[in-house]
Amino acid sequence: MAANLRLPPLPSVRDLIKLYRLQARKQLAQNFLMDERLTNKIVRQAGDMKGLQVLEVGPGPGGITRSIMRKGPEKIILVEKDKRFQPTLEILNEAFATVNGKMDIFYDDIMQFDFNKIFSEELKREWDDESPKIHIIGNLPFNVSTPLIIRWLHDISEKRGAWALGRVRMLLTFQKEVAERLVAQPNGSQRCRLSVMAQAWTRPKLRFIIPGRAFIPEPDVDVGVVTFDPLKTPRTDHDFKFFEKITRHLFSFRQKYSLACVKTLFPYEYQNDLGLMMFKLSDLDPTTRPIELTIEDMHRLASAYKYLLEKHPQIKDYNYRDSAKVLPKSYTKAISVAEIDDE
Ligand code: SAM
Repeated sequence: MAANLRLPPLPSVRDLIKLYRLQARKQLAQNFLMDERLTNKIVRQAGDMKGLQVLEVGPGPGGITRSIMRKGPEKIILVEKDKRFQPTLEILNEAFATVNGKMDIFYDDIMQFDFNKIFSEELKREWDDESPKIHIIGNLPFNVSTPLIIRWLHDISEKRGAWALGRVRMLLTFQKEVAERLVAQPNGSQRCRLSVMAQAWTRPKLRFIIPGRAFIPEPDVDVGVVTFDPLKTPRTDHDFKFFEKITRHLFSFRQKYSLACVKTLFPYEYQNDLGLMMFKLSDLDPTTRPIELTIEDMHRLASAYKYLLEKHPQIKDYNYRDSAKVLPKSYTKAISVAEIDDE
């Protein structure tokens, strides 16, 4: 199918919203994009769509969907939670069919959505090959996009869900501050657990910022458009949950030495010795600040922790949150700070 497809004439998104009385629902954090130049600019970040199967999450009234359709992918799969959008999405489905485009629409919650059999099996690529001809696109509510990217990073690490078919690329929007965190490098003021987890398994790129005023209704924040390319070789080979635990502890006190953070991994009586031992084994300076650490540094600390767990199995189930009840007051105070800093 040719790129920049000519679609049959369609009523504008604005008119369809009026016609079907599709007021944005606050509880679903709905904010719509009506400006075609902007939706085209977003979709352009996904590159050429010839022969692609594109899954769009949260199409709403279909502004971004139209821009995807014009790029002429082989198939579009829509996952929308709010069934009120059915009439507008059906109009798009019919229009796409007239130019031989295929569209599947699911009225479902993306958090429960099963990727099994959604894309054609023949699109499957080996992990080390180029990305399969599949792209995931979504302008989602902020309360959905962050837990969703964490879940999908986990799926990428396990090569399951959509990533059972290879290194499927994504284009997603986030609140501007979250987008900046996702791409923050060591020493950046926004560097945090999310930066490390995203960059350990993918190459996230902040493409551009959409001002809040471009949405209807206007949200209080600006929005960042981020693309993610899963890495052929992840920057850690630790298990996702295990690496996340170390990262969470390492960012428990942003302004202190990393040693103070690492100590929260161990029961009070072991924390000095084992904390220092972790840095010795990793060949790292314990006075390094957490935001200075690279992903490779974190990987070495995680390997050291794993080694210490094997040597001292009694510390395996230690949980600093539970221990707050029995520890000295000064330590309990530190723990509550760590909890507040937890994203
Ligand atoms: N993509 C449209 C646009 O850019 O104008 C709508 C964006 S609006 C911010 C988010 C959309 O995601 C809404 O249509 C909402 O109903 C949908 N949505 C919210 N939570 C969802 C979920 N868990 N699964 C699927 N869709 C969801």
